[in-house]
Amino acid sequence: MVKSILVDINRCTGCWTCSMACKTAHDLDTDEFWQYVRTIGGGERDEPGGEWPNLYMKWMPIWKLSCTKCGGDNTTDNKPYCVFNCPTGALTYGDLADEQSEISQRLNELKGRRYRVYEIPEWEDTRKSILYAEKGI
Ligand code: SF4
Ligand code: SF4
Repeated sequence: MVKSILVDINRCTGCWTCSMACKTAHDLDTDEFWQYVRTIGGGERDEPGGEWPNLYMKWMPIWKLSCTKCGGDNTTDNKPYCVFNCPTGALTYGDLADEQSEISQRLNELKGRRYRVYEIPEWEDTRKSILYAEKGI
């Protein structure tokens, strides 16, 4: 099984619950993150890009190489803590090789709705098997 995570960018609100769930579950130090949320916009965290009134901002959760792709535990339905605790349903976890898995079905659904699917470039040195799905407005 290849453990993968699918991110629906259009559902992500940038709340950082995923990062905090990981931090809490793995008892990380205050300034240590195995996963964080990048703002796509003006450059600073939660800063919009563009010029008024044509502003834009969206968020992109990033899994660092320190992420162990943990499987959570029986309180999280054996889903990673980050995935299980996302309040908006932006994250789906599972085995993409299994066509019946939740993640495969979600991926097919989003592709059917003409979402663009992509991964972070190799040079960013982030965790692999993280797929992003996004639909432009
Ligand atoms: S993926 Fe979910 S938990 Fe993480 S920032 Fe986006 S909405 Fe919040
Ligand atoms: S998969 Fe596990 S270790 Fe990786 S970011 Fe999510 S909760 Fe943290």
